[in-house]
Amino acid sequence: MKLILLGPPGAGKGTQAAKIAERYSLAHISTGDMLRAEIASETPLGIRAKALIEAGELVPDDIIIGMVENRIQQPDCENGFLLDGFPRTIAQAESLMEFSDIDRAVCIEVPDESIVDRMARRRVCPDCKRTYSVDIDEGDEFYCSECGARLVARDDDKPETVRHRLEVYAEQTFPLIEFFDGKALLSRIDGSGTVEEVAQNIFDLFEEKDPYWEDDVDC
Ligand code: AMP
Repeated sequence: MKLILLGPPGAGKGTQAAKIAERYSLAHISTGDMLRAEIASETPLGIRAKALIEAGELVPDDIIIGMVENRIQQPDCENGFLLDGFPRTIAQAESLMEFSDIDRAVCIEVPDESIVDRMARRRVCPDCKRTYSVDIDEGDEFYCSECGARLVARDDDKPETVRHRLEVYAEQTFPLIEFFDGKALLSRIDGSGTVEEVAQNIFDLFEEKDPYWEDDVDC
């Protein structure tokens, strides 16, 4: 399977991507994680990307396209891969369709009004990179349940950056839904349930289970 996960910032793409990749033994390719690794290593690309990411802007298409094209040639992608955060522009999508044959694009849909709230709650583990949704009414000291590190907010989850990221999403990334729909590759998933419910809906989609018929043993 060669899959794409689409959806606005805060839709839960990273969390769901990890679950899907594990269940189907796919390589999980997150361009955001790749860029954050470049930033942590202070490479020339990382230094350039840092300023753009913190401003809520996209990294230029040619850089990202080259990065993904190389990445999907790695041996761990032979059994398939799941792209999380790529493509984000029509130019990226068009290039991707030239260098790979994508099987399906899944769009996780969440109501606009819940996106800002989801992003305000998002915390990440600086060590093992797990993502959490915390209860901000309970203060601001949260710890990773896996490795115990203190969780932090992403720099680009600050409210003013979030607003700009949502504008960039609406202008540049939202048109991809129509792009993949036009190629009959798009499936839509309701992302407003719990993490487990949304994951189950995605698994059902891939395994073609229809919950309406599942219990209907009479026919
Ligand atoms: P994410 O972790 O997917 O939310 O990505 C964090 C940031 O990395 C984005 O807001 C962009 O600045 C940058 N980024 C990630 N993927 C891409 C992409 N496909 N194209 C351009 N910029 C990207």
